[in-house]
Amino acid sequence: MTKVYAKKSLGQNFLVDRNYIRRVISSVSPDPGDTIVEIGPGRGALTEHLVASGAQVIAIELDNELADILDDRFSGSSNFKVVQGNAIEIDLSKLISPNTKAKLVANLPYYISTAILQHFIKQREHLSELVLMFQKEVVERITAEPGSSERGYLTVLVGAAFEVEKLFYVPPAAFRPVPKVQSSVVRLLPKPFSIADTKGFTDLISFAFAHKRKTLTNNLRVAYKDISRAFAAANIDGQRRAETLTHEEWTRLLSHLGREM
Ligand code: SAM
Repeated sequence: MTKVYAKKSLGQNFLVDRNYIRRVISSVSPDPGDTIVEIGPGRGALTEHLVASGAQVIAIELDNELADILDDRFSGSSNFKVVQGNAIEIDLSKLISPNTKAKLVANLPYYISTAILQHFIKQREHLSELVLMFQKEVVERITAEPGSSERGYLTVLVGAAFEVEKLFYVPPAAFRPVPKVQSSVVRLLPKPFSIADTKGFTDLISFAFAHKRKTLTNNLRVAYKDISRAFAAANIDGQRRAETLTHEEWTRLLSHLGREM
């Protein structure tokens, strides 16, 4: 293969350890009937196995040099297509066949992982599952339980949109170049349309987590009229912090809030 130097600006740390490549692939469990969308295929470490499984593979790569190399490398496989572009601008409804749900797999560039997650929350009706590798801290944040200081806006949003399952840890030595950060793999199973899709919910959690050390009352009274009445009706103590609320409590609070200001 032509030698292409890793571009730090695009988060290029390529997975080279065969054991971890195998573990990611077996988590995806590709099968000839599947449509698989791979984000950031890079040099094709995962792509190679996805294509060999017989699944329909659509790879989205921002780096045009790598996209060309992948195109050449898999040009003989009719079940492979590379799209050169930015994953956060991809509209899955235009990429996959109607009435098809794809599996999404990615060893995500860390600099863009939050934006990619938010993008695919909106696109999840086209997905049956997502197997994603993130920086370990991102996984800790999205899997943080109520009460944990790691819990934030992204945790609550992701939890409303997906069932989240932590899979395994991947050490820096599994990549070239070796990154400074540690990585983890998660599986996300899309929940059907939920409050995650409503503006009222995203507004509520972004106000509630605006200042993490403040109480819910102090964060929310700038945005909602009669916030004490809503807390009383939802049976939630307004002196708590946002990180302590469960998904059910957010849902209850939202149902009692008027946004009159
Ligand atoms: N999947 C490969 C592997 O496991 O070895 C490469 C992973 S590397 C961490 C991330 C890849 O995502 C790089 O190939 C990079 O060029 C690509 N990338 C970066 N930003 C992207 C974006 N916005 N959309 C699509 N691909 C992107």
